[in-house]
Amino acid sequence: MSTFAQLGIRPEILSALGELGFETPTAVQAKAIPHLLTSERDAVALAQTGTGKTAAFGIPILERIDPAQRMVQALVLAPTRELCVQITKDLGRYASHLPGVKSVAVYGGANIRDQIRDIQRGANIVVATPGRLIDLIDRKAVDLSGIRIAVLDEADEMLNMGFQEDLTTILETTPKNKHTWLFSATMNSDVRRIAKNYMREADELSVGRANAAADDIKHQYTVIQVRDRYLALKRFVDAEPDLFAIVFCRTKQDTQEL
Ligand code: AMP
Repeated sequence: MSTFAQLGIRPEILSALGELGFETPTAVQAKAIPHLLTSERDAVALAQTGTGKTAAFGIPILERIDPAQRMVQALVLAPTRELCVQITKDLGRYASHLPGVKSVAVYGGANIRDQIRDIQRGANIVVATPGRLIDLIDRKAVDLSGIRIAVLDEADEMLNMGFQEDLTTILETTPKNKHTWLFSATMNSDVRRIAKNYMREADELSVGRANAAADDIKHQYTVIQVRDRYLALKRFVDAEPDLFAIVFCRTKQDTQEL
């Protein structure tokens, strides 16, 4: 098993990881970090949420940007506001001993002027939802000419959410000679098309099997009548008194009823 030090990470980041209690790299980190630190080729990595993928691309970003340059050098695209905020928070943690590194989250549904001001105060990493970034590009509020790394996080989700056209526009607006790193939980023809059209000789870094759930997660399901579902859910909860859970529903109304 490798250690973070063996992956070639600088001491400032190693101490931040130590303080976060990260002892050993996860599978995707062990595979992606050395590659993204050294290879000039693009990369496609298959990784689900919860596998440590944020650090897998976040650490190589921090290693490759120059904090002294007050311009946007890395761009991370993610499907939701929550994910953008989480990624930005994580980057801040890994960079806690790297002065001058500033990442900003930009997403729809929040004041665009505040976000523009945050970028103009010297962000070197922008973490964005595709729609809001297009808005910023249209307003000429963000300069992407210095981008050296573009990460597509949860690429499959971004395509599911209809961001295909926005992604194309963004990738065409950024410099051709940048590195593009694509992370996706699943691999389908749309994801492959993005990789084929907008990436240079991408290496595929898969951990585990394609389109499979994490090994340490057990899946169970029960087929029931719609009218019985809350009662059935209650039984699951009663059977596991220590359960901490997130329940997903199909509609807004379902979540309210539940
Ligand atoms: P992610 O898949 O990036 O959302 O990460 C899932 C969670 O695992 C986050 O809470 C991370 O802070 C945590 N994490 C990531 N890498 C490691 C590691 N090597 N050791 C311990 N925890 C980690």
